[in-house]
Amino acid sequence: MTERSEFESNLYRTAVAQLDSVAARIQLDTDIHERLRYPRRALVVSVPIRMDNGRTEVFMGYRVHHNTVLGPTKGGLRYDLDVNLGEVTALAMLMSWKCALMGLPYGGAKGGVRCNPRSMSRQELEHLTRRYTAEVMLFIGPDLDIPAPDLGTDEQTMAWMMDTYSMTQGKAVPGVVTGKPLIVGGSAGRREATGRGIVYALYQATRRLGQELRGRKVVIQGFGNVGAVAARLLWREGAVIVGISDIKGGIWNPEGIDIRRLEAHVAESGTVGGFLDTDPLSNKALLEQPCDILVPAAIGSQIRADNADRVKANLIAEGANGPTTPEADAILRERGVTVIPDILANAGGVVVSYFEWVQGLQYYFWRESEITARLQEVMTRAFNRVWAIASKEGVDLRTAALMEGVSRVAEGYRVRGLYP
Ligand code: NAD
Repeated sequence: MTERSEFESNLYRTAVAQLDSVAARIQLDTDIHERLRYPRRALVVSVPIRMDNGRTEVFMGYRVHHNTVLGPTKGGLRYDLDVNLGEVTALAMLMSWKCALMGLPYGGAKGGVRCNPRSMSRQELEHLTRRYTAEVMLFIGPDLDIPAPDLGTDEQTMAWMMDTYSMTQGKAVPGVVTGKPLIVGGSAGRREATGRGIVYALYQATRRLGQELRGRKVVIQGFGNVGAVAARLLWREGAVIVGISDIKGGIWNPEGIDIRRLEAHVAESGTVGGFLDTDPLSNKALLEQPCDILVPAAIGSQIRADNADRVKANLIAEGANGPTTPEADAILRERGVTVIPDILANAGGVVVSYFEWVQGLQYYFWRESEITARLQEVMTRAFNRVWAIASKEGVDLRTAALMEGVSRVAEGYRVRGLYP
């Protein structure tokens, strides 16, 4: 099949380039390779909403299932102005490799609505979520495709989705989404899971590099679900958080930022800006500040060919999906910077989503300590597997993680064969 223009986007190009580059290394069957480059199915919907001013606005929504070879599909729902079919497809593809790498019985999916959630009222967001859910109703379900929060969405979004879906079934269906509030079948530790997984991955990486987390200087881009939790847990481990940002810009203090007080400041003012004893700086400058560890935890394509040689960190943990372009990856590799790739570093979220789904299907809920211990075990095992492949094959961690993830999906395709 010739390249399909409907998926054109920077992130899709990145995702396909990554797939193509590992295909040769793992001697991927060319027929399976061709199938893996495209999503199994993609749904585009328009989502009309009555806004608070009485006018109707129409938003574009998407849900993409990349593959269903290992089980139902799983992936986040994103509310952001950059959402488009190509980006959602690329993110669904990354989810496929991530779930396979972590040994979860899922294919990859992703969804999104192109909107600016920060400019919408709570009522508008509720209407948007409910109408979007109704539009993708036939595409989701506990044994079909299970959404979760992502950029711009949260537990409340998932509660509205679950309620909308449940109302059409005449019963509560907790297994249709993960990342729900605890009271309606959410899991202990889900909110912290992605940030916590990043810390476990960093713990292993620093150990392998002969360092320890305590005392490392850390810069984090993004102070949302992923960035704020990673910041708090790293700070508690004794790392020195020297820089942090959100969409409005960053703050910097080479002596370290008190994360608990920063959380209180953000709860009050809505942004990290203006925090005590810090200097303001732009998101762009933040990525180039002197530090040991950089955690991009906001949006994609932040480390690029035009700034990768100015990144000072020697260890990067990708909290965000696709924060590093392939060109930047090559520069960082050349410079000896260790990059823990997104499909490994931020996989804690989908791992605990899996735990939540299993708990929901069984109506049997685990203690937080049990969840944390299992998460640590899964993250550590995956990290060690990836590190071992990287050492054996002489490749970077991203290539190693992709080799493992893509191979497992491809093996599923091979044994199932091609229908009809
Ligand atoms: P979120 O909406 O809770 O927080 C996003 C943060 O990034 C906020 O601080 C926001 O101000 C900031 N941000 C948004 N746009 C920005 C921009 N243009 N420049 C700089 N900062 C910007 O989202 P989240 O759930 O924390 O997700 C962050 C990233 O992590 C996304 O790439 C997402 O795909 C990825 N991720 C999330 C999860 C999860 O469990 N939530 C799991 C895996 C990966």
